[in-house]
Amino acid sequence: VPFCVRACPYCDFDFVVNRHPPVDAYVKGLAAEWRVRERAWAGDFATIYIGGGTPSALGASGLAQLLAWIREVFPGSGATEFTVELNPEHVSRDVVRSLQDFGVGRVSVGVQSFNDRALVQLGRRHRHQQAHDVLAMLVADGFQVSTDLIVGWVGQKQSEVIADARAVLASGVQHVSVYALTIEETSHWPALVARKQREMPDSDEQGERLRDVNEVFEANGFVHYEIASYARAGAIAQHNRFYWTCRDVLGLGPSAHSVRYDDRGAVRRTANVRGYESWLAQPGIEASDEELHGEAAVREALWVGLRYLLGVDVSTFLQQFSGIDRAFLERICRRQIEIGNLEWIDEGNTLRVAPERWYWHDRIGRDLLDVGSN
Ligand code: SF4
Repeated sequence: VPFCVRACPYCDFDFVVNRHPPVDAYVKGLAAEWRVRERAWAGDFATIYIGGGTPSALGASGLAQLLAWIREVFPGSGATEFTVELNPEHVSRDVVRSLQDFGVGRVSVGVQSFNDRALVQLGRRHRHQQAHDVLAMLVADGFQVSTDLIVGWVGQKQSEVIADARAVLASGVQHVSVYALTIEETSHWPALVARKQREMPDSDEQGERLRDVNEVFEANGFVHYEIASYARAGAIAQHNRFYWTCRDVLGLGPSAHSVRYDDRGAVRRTANVRGYESWLAQPGIEASDEELHGEAAVREALWVGLRYLLGVDVSTFLQQFSGIDRAFLERICRRQIEIGNLEWIDEGNTLRVAPERWYWHDRIGRDLLDVGSN
C-alpha cells in the first residue's frame, strides 16, 4: 500500500503522501497486476501480509474494500497467517471491525517508541498514550499483535531504551521487531542535518542500545529468534520465516518484490517499478529481474537463512539445494566457525549464528558471499 499521510524524515520507502488515498484506483491497479501474474501464481498462498507505506491510511472503509478484493481473489489464502500493518493514529473501532470482518488475525503496529521526544524526532504523528491505548485494545480484541521499535535515535539514553522495551512487555504484545534508526541517503534527514534541525545517529551507541533491549526481552520471556525479531512462545512471524527459509513469495503493488525458487534452488527475483503513478500506468511491469544459480544461490540463501537465529536445518537446506553437499557447507563456513561466529548444534543437524554474535550477521554474510575466498 503506497500511501502515507505524512513523510517520516528518515524513510526512503516507495510511498506517496496522500491524506485521501485513491482506494478505487489502487485496488483496480492490483486487480490489473494480478491478471498479468495469475497464470504463473495459481494456487493458495499460506500467508498474506499487507504492508506499506501505511495500509491503515486507507481508513476503515478503504481497508474493507482492499480486504474484500483479497478475499474474492485469494479465497483460500492466508490460512497460516494474515497480517496488516497499522499506524497507531489510524486505529479505531471501525478499523478493527474491518479487520475482523475479513479474518485478519495478526496486526503489526508501527509504534517505534513510547517516548514523545523520540516520536517528534522521528516525525511520527502519534504520541505515547495513543500507542498504549491502541496496543491494549488490539490485544484485548484477540489479535496476534506485533509492534516495531526504533532504537538508537539521536540522544537516546540507556534508561530510555529500557523504558521502551518495558513498555512493550507491559503492553501484552506477543512479538516485537527492533531496528536501529537507519538514515537513508535519499531520505529527507540529511537535508535536515544540513539545516541543523537533526543530527546523524551514532552507530556505536546504536550497537549498545540494541544490546540493551536484547537483554530486557531475553530476560522476560521473549525469544530472540531473528536478527531484528523477538517473540513469545508460539508467536514467531510465519510470513517472515518464509523469507528466511527460501519459500516463494509474490509481491503486488509499486516496488513490490517477488521471489521464486526452482527444484534445485536456483532463484529468480523480480521487483515492480517504483512510484505509484508509474506502477498504475503499467501494473505488472518489472523494473528489475535477477537470477542466481548454483553456488551463488546457495551462499545467499545460507546468509539469509542465518538471520533465523534458531538456526538453519541442514538436511532441509540440502534437499532444497540439491547441487551441493554437506562438505561444501562446511568449507564455506569454516572460517566463521573457527572465529566463533557460527556453530553447529543438534549433533550437526543445525547451523546457527552463535549466541551473542548476532550483531555480526552482516560481517558473516560478507565472508559467506565472497565466492573467491572460501
Ligand atoms: S516510515 Fe512508514 S509511515 Fe513513515 S514515511 Fe515511511 S512508510 Fe510512511
